[in-house]
Amino acid sequence: MKAVTFEKHGGVDVLQYRDDLPVPQITPNEVLIKIKAAAMNHNDIWARTGVPGMTFILPHISGTDAAGVVEAVGSEVKHFSLGDEVMVNGAFSCGYCDQCVRGEPMFCPKFAIWGFQTGPNHGSEAEYGRVPARNLVPKPKHLSWEGAASLSSVLVTVWRMLVVRAQMRPGDLVLIWGATGGLGVMAVQLCKALGVKSIAIAGSDEKCQLAKELGADFVLNRNKQRLIREVMKISGRRGVDIVLEHSGALTWETSTYCLKAGGTIVTCGATTGYKAPLDIRFLWNKQQNYLGSHFGTTAELIDALRFVETNQVKPVIMEVLPLKDIARGHQIIESGNVMGKIVLVPE
Ligand code: ZN
Repeated sequence: MKAVTFEKHGGVDVLQYRDDLPVPQITPNEVLIKIKAAAMNHNDIWARTGVPGMTFILPHISGTDAAGVVEAVGSEVKHFSLGDEVMVNGAFSCGYCDQCVRGEPMFCPKFAIWGFQTGPNHGSEAEYGRVPARNLVPKPKHLSWEGAASLSSVLVTVWRMLVVRAQMRPGDLVLIWGATGGLGVMAVQLCKALGVKSIAIAGSDEKCQLAKELGADFVLNRNKQRLIREVMKISGRRGVDIVLEHSGALTWETSTYCLKAGGTIVTCGATTGYKAPLDIRFLWNKQQNYLGSHFGTTAELIDALRFVETNQVKPVIMEVLPLKDIARGHQIIESGNVMGKIVLVPE
């Protein structure tokens, strides 16, 4: 099959487009998918460059998101059949441990992100992929392959952050960092759909315009405006109810200043660095809550997809690339100039 693989970490020159890799073999609980479209994430960059202290399984095919057609099913798979159109939740878990049977697969000791922590050569940036049947959901009929592939991990991640972890409620005011990145465009639209007011932060006027078009109530250009002052003005000096964080070192302190007493910062990443200052007075005096969140369950994806079915949440795709041109996708993501998602098509 065709796929993009790499055998060592490095620059984009380590990426090899090949057409001679074996089609994956499925186990009894897995499904083989003919992939029609896959989407890129920041994890693609980290897997290629390597991350200090983290071991990747080589050779490696990246890719956590995919939409495609069921090509074969394992002997134990009862609820999907050949020809079904599906999208993948790339959060893999064992399915049997106490956390999994409790309905908390994100806490499974064997939790692994498809195409990031799986391998060798086990990801979606290929012609075929194998996934546990419990990680599949039907593709919303009105979506294109590219649209469906672009949604799953960012949509479920934002849903779990805001709805499940931070317990967001109608009427809340939410601050969204990186409002036009893959996560941000989902967050802005979900807030709108759920009756929540959002303050979208972006790094250029063009990005602020996109956030506005997606439904942000307020937009702030972080390179032009004094964020804390503006947030205090918007919130009537109270601060926001929730901050959606994924940036880390560069933004964390500002997040704590923008948050109201009793408010919640929920984070799913730290693209600008892992170490941030912590003023403990904010924890006890202002009784702020700092919550972690990681990916999301297939059930949470199904919940979030209801808002896709009603067209309140739509895919935001910056560029569709042939799989063989994946290096360009890596360069766009590394430049930090992504608006929405980069999608790959294997044919
Ligand atoms: Zn488990």
